[in-house]
Amino acid sequence: MDGKSIICSTDAMQKTGKIAIEEHWGNQELNDLRTEWGKRTGYAVTVDPKAIAYSFPRMLDFDKFRLPSMDEFGITMQVISTGSPGVQGYADTRKAISRAKALNDAQAEIIHKYPGRFAGFAGLPTQDPKAAADELDRAVKQLGFKGAMIQGSTNWEYLDENKYWVIWEKAEALEVPIYLHVQEPSFATAKLYEGHPELTGATWAWGVETATHALRIINSGVFDAFPKATLILGHLGEALPYLLGRLDEGFFMAAKSGRKLNKALSEYIRSNLLATTSGLYRPETLLCAITAMGEDRILYAMDYPFVEPKASVDCFMRTPLTDEVREKISHLNAEKWLKL
Ligand code: MN
Repeated sequence: MDGKSIICSTDAMQKTGKIAIEEHWGNQELNDLRTEWGKRTGYAVTVDPKAIAYSFPRMLDFDKFRLPSMDEFGITMQVISTGSPGVQGYADTRKAISRAKALNDAQAEIIHKYPGRFAGFAGLPTQDPKAAADELDRAVKQLGFKGAMIQGSTNWEYLDENKYWVIWEKAEALEVPIYLHVQEPSFATAKLYEGHPELTGATWAWGVETATHALRIINSGVFDAFPKATLILGHLGEALPYLLGRLDEGFFMAAKSGRKLNKALSEYIRSNLLATTSGLYRPETLLCAITAMGEDRILYAMDYPFVEPKASVDCFMRTPLTDEVREKISHLNAEKWLKL
């Protein structure tokens, strides 16, 4: 399919009202945290600052760039969250707990300032899983947030570990999703990327890390224990929709590992996962995700301000979809899953 042959006019882009759900904001504290976290972990630079110069003035801004671009491209609402590493970047647990509260409160103020235009995903201090569950409860009940975004692992400990199940239990009880955002790969994979820094970051390593994290969560039995819990992945499911058959085949071959699940891996992906359109993609990739996961489980997202609105909307509007499916992905699915 030559996606470029189907270009929509700005008019058509505006007409399809969209709720975008992986949209980031930042402040000086979060910028400093990213620098400090990069130095501490050795993952200082996987993105060339020049390549994403567009994003820097837009992270903190709401009035000058963000709202006008939302109006221009028909984004009725952004569900906002901090950028990576967010609360997961704090080395000190007590600090993570107190700053998560402060950052969520600051985010709530932004949402309050622009009625109807923004909703939020909470940052959670996973450094203390019980405190993270408590903060999710507070953020949903008191601040009105629609779920949480966890910025990947916490010092390369993953959310399948039993100590984190209290977060899944709370998310299920509150009926809110957990959005698993991309993050740098574990140090254990350093050899794999040796000599190829261009494969770290968004090119490849973030997606592999995040998809593997999601499979760890599924395979640990989280969704057998909490069948109504929902996990959201960005970037059209971080390639998992493409691999449903292979995952089931491989799991069957690995059965001697003794791991027991109630359902096939692909069934969890079709019953407990949602995927968003964040990032840039080809129309055939979106069509694969819709076919694999179902038209009710794909939600629009942009990854603002790391992706320019026009480029994101171009990807979406170039994809041939029925009006009914386009409306679901644009906003109906978000309204349903996030109770907007
Ligand atoms: Mn993002």
